Amino acid sequence: MTPHPGGTTPADPPAHGGASPPVPPRPPGVRVGVIGTGMIGQDHIRRITQVLTGGSVVAVNDVDAERAGQAAAGLPRTVIAHDTAQDLIADDNVDAVLVASWGAAHEEQVLAAVAAGKPVFCEKPLAPSSDACLRILDAEVAAGRHLIQVGFMRRYDAGYLAMKAALDDGSLGPALLMHCAHRNPSVPDYGFTTDMIISDSAVHEMDIVRWLFGEEIVAATVLTPRRAGQAPDGLQDPLILLLEMASGVLVDDELFVSARYGYDVRGEVVCETGTVALADVSEVTVRAQNRYGGRVPVDWRDRFIRAYDAELQEWLNAVAVGSAAGPSSWDGYAAAAVTDAALEALRTGQRTAVSMPERPEFYAK
Ligand code: NAP
Repeated sequence: MTPHPGGTTPADPPAHGGASPPVPPRPPGVRVGVIGTGMIGQDHIRRITQVLTGGSVVAVNDVDAERAGQAAAGLPRTVIAHDTAQDLIADDNVDAVLVASWGAAHEEQVLAAVAAGKPVFCEKPLAPSSDACLRILDAEVAAGRHLIQVGFMRRYDAGYLAMKAALDDGSLGPALLMHCAHRNPSVPDYGFTTDMIISDSAVHEMDIVRWLFGEEIVAATVLTPRRAGQAPDGLQDPLILLLEMASGVLVDDELFVSARYGYDVRGEVVCETGTVALADVSEVTVRAQNRYGGRVPVDWRDRFIRAYDAELQEWLNAVAVGSAAGPSSWDGYAAAAVTDAALEALRTGQRTAVSMPERPEFYAK
C-alpha cells in the first residue's frame, strides 16, 4: 500500500496570513474506500471530496496502480492506495466501500464487502449475470441487513422524480405506454459490443421503468432497424427494445449509441387522459434569425450530474446512521434478469419472457 499525503484542504487558512481565524478541517464523516479509479470512480471521488457532506475518501484501489495513485494524489486527506481490492475492504480505516471497477469484478468485490459487514455502493451493473446477482442477494440476506446500494442514479434526477410524481398523483389516469430514447454521441471503436447496448445502456431504462410504474418487467423483444453508417464495425446500432410491464404497459426504448449530436435521454409516458414527458434540459433557449435552440448535454456526467450528487449524498447519509437507502440489490438483480431476457431476444429475434423468482420478504417495497 502507498500512502498519499493530503494537500491543502479548502478549509485551510490562506497562506498569506490575514485576519481570518484558522478553520478546523472538516471531520472525515463516513470514510470511503473507492475500488476502480477510472472515469466514474474519479468523478465520485471528486464529488465526495468537493461537493457532498459527511464523507471522505481514505483509500483507493485499481488494477492500474498508477491510475489509483494519481486519483489519490492531491486529495485533502492522506489516502492509501491499496495493492488489492481485498486489502482495501479489510482496511480498518475504511467504513464503507464504493465499487466503480469493471462490471465483471463487481460480484467478488461486493461479496467481500458484505462478508466484512461493510456498506457498499456498487455502480451498475450489480453484476453482469442474474446468477451472480442472486449470489449477492443470498449473501446480503444471510448477513441479515441491507448493505448494498446500486448506482441507478436516474431515480434521483429532477425530471424523472417529477414524472413519477405526476404518474402517482393519478390525475393522468392509468399509464398505457412509454416512449424512451437513449442516445450517446459515440462509443469506443473497439471493445463495445451490441450486447453492451443492452447490458450497459438500456439497463438504465430497465430500472427506471420498474421504479416509475412500481412493477416488474415480464418480457422483452429487440428489433434491429437499419444500421447507422457511422456505427463502429460490427455494432448493430440503433436497436429498439420493447419491454412489457406486468400490468400490460408497453415501453419502447430507442438505443442509439453513435448519435453524434450529443447525449440525449428522452421519455414520455402516455396515460388514459394525458401525457408526461421529460423536458429538454438546456438552461436557456436562444431565439434568433427565425430559429430557436438550446444545449444538448455532452455526456452522461453532464446530463445527470445532480442525480449522481443526490444518490451518493443519500448513500453517505444512510451509512452514517447505519441504514440503507436507494436502489437495492434486488433492483440490481431485477435489471440483470431483464438484461438476460433482452440479450436472448436479441439473439433469437423472439419475444422472451423474463424469468425471476418472487421478490423475497427481505426486499419488500
Ligand atoms: P473505466 O473508466 O474503465 O474505469 C474502471 C476502472 O476499474 C479502470 O481503471 C479499470 O482498470 C479498473 N478495474 C477493472 N477491474 C478492476 C478490478 N478487478 N479491481 C480494481 N479495479 C479494476 O470505466 P467507468 O466508465 O468508470 O465504469 C466503471 C463502472 O461504472 C462500470 O460498471 C460502468 O458500467 C459503471 N458506470 C455507471 C454509470 C452510470 O451512469 N451509473 C456511468 C458510467 C459507468 P483497467 O482500465 O486497467 O481495466
